[in-house]
Amino acid sequence: MDFNAIGDPTNKLKGLRISSLDDDDGDEEVLIDNEHEDYDSNDEEEDPITLGFVEKPKNNWCLQRQYFPSKAGGGPAWLDPVNIPSGRSCMCDICGEPLQFLLQVYAPTEKENTFHRMLFVFMCPSMKCLLRDQHEQWKRHPNKPSRSVKVFRCQLPRDNTFYSSERPKFNVSDKPVGSGAALCDWCGTWKGDKLCSSCRQVRYCSDKHQVRHWRSGHKIACPRMKVSTHTAISVGSRKDASNALWPEFEIIIEDESDNNNTDISESKALTSSLISKNRNDDIMNSILDSFQGDDDKKSWVYFQERIASAPEQILRYYRNTNARPIWPVSSGRPSKADIPKCSHCGGSMCCEFQILPQLLYYLGVDNEADSMDWASIVVYTCEASCDLGVAYKEEYAWVQIYLPSPT
Ligand SMILES: [Zn+2]
Ligand SMILES: [Zn+2]
Ligand SMILES: [Zn+2]
Ligand SMILES: [Zn+2]
Repeated sequence: MDFNAIGDPTNKLKGLRISSLDDDDGDEEVLIDNEHEDYDSNDEEEDPITLGFVEKPKNNWCLQRQYFPSKAGGGPAWLDPVNIPSGRSCMCDICGEPLQFLLQVYAPTEKENTFHRMLFVFMCPSMKCLLRDQHEQWKRHPNKPSRSVKVFRCQLPRDNTFYSSERPKFNVSDKPVGSGAALCDWCGTWKGDKLCSSCRQVRYCSDKHQVRHWRSGHKIACPRMKVSTHTAISVGSRKDASNALWPEFEIIIEDESDNNNTDISESKALTSSLISKNRNDDIMNSILDSFQGDDDKKSWVYFQERIASAPEQILRYYRNTNARPIWPVSSGRPSKADIPKCSHCGGSMCCEFQILPQLLYYLGVDNEADSMDWASIVVYTCEASCDLGVAYKEEYAWVQIYLPSPT
């Protein structure tokens, strides 16, 4: 049975299985100009790129972990639901707040130990922290980096203790094997190791989330829960908590080449576009005007041309040593030396996917001066997908923002 066929025929939950480099036709590797070669100057062909789009989930079960979803916003669907990151790993190293879930991508490979493979991206929603994170990023491999954006890789063989080795049936009947660790009742994201000391019925990942939950209504609910310890009270706090999370979407996968057909692209724009074209153009032009240097303008134009066939894309998936992310601006790109080695096996890392600023629109991040903003987040992962260390291995994110980089 081919697990790769997950989600077909609807094509919705298809995993990004990394296949051998079977480039069926090479008609889309033409867009490399000299300005973009300095990152990686070997002239090999680019492989076809897969794009990710967001859609509201069709039902309330399809994003559960037993369906191996690629998703953005809401809480994570932990692949290994027990050994999830804890301690310093789940906090913003700059402000100490627990990180917020941004997205996850299901990207198994053909190897046995990566039959299931999921990448998770978290970030602190504070733009102040992201700016500090930038300084750290340019330091080049500090021993203990202080990051406000973190990426984790988790992988499992086909036979594992958490899931059936058969593919899900995609109806409500699919159940994961066993239950996972109890999660924080406020963020639904991290382990809820701390109990409310008064009612002992709700759990938190941190004091910060306990305080937030208390202020947002648990102060009133707590005494009632305390008296009725033996009554099954639905905790119901996740509903409050969902206000604190970004809105939840399913990530739908399509090949970039499919979008080169303008008919498809137009009908897609008609049926699913959330961004009206005019609004989009206004934003684009105002960003273009704000650039000082010609190089940034050139990069921006190239970037816009490249995404024009599918402007709603929020994710570009590469996973290939020759992959070149497309940088919206020319300043703030990493050189090869800026990308560290895998912190677990010491091997090289390669660019696996890129998150585009379009996602900010869907997350409802407003366009104020101090709002969170990025030009691009590029995720680099261990080329060998090594198995060393903890269940959730930290990988590397390069964040490009619309500011001149410090030199
Ligand atoms: Zn922070
Ligand atoms: Zn929490
Ligand atoms: Zn309580
Ligand atoms: Zn490694």
